[in-house]
Amino acid sequence: MTLIQMVMLVAVSTAVILFVIAIVRPWLRNCPRCKADIPPIRKPTSVNQMLWGGWTCSSCGLELDRKGDPVVNQLNRLR
Ligand SMILES: [Zn+2]
Repeated sequence: MTLIQMVMLVAVSTAVILFVIAIVRPWLRNCPRCKADIPPIRKPTSVNQMLWGGWTCSSCGLELDRKGDPVVNQLNRLR
């Protein structure tokens, strides 16, 4: 195995690990407000969620981004 092949292997494995973590991490989290489980398949409730990922809690209606952090509604912030 050449040095370039080794570097490529490390780069690809790192990318795969980061990709898997980015997908799996929200599944391991619960709603920060009501502690309900976040389902693996999330139906987007807005265009923003469709484009960027995210999820609205079915129990309490809290909006979460794709990392599982609460989203502050910009309309509410401006008012
Ligand atoms: Zn909730």
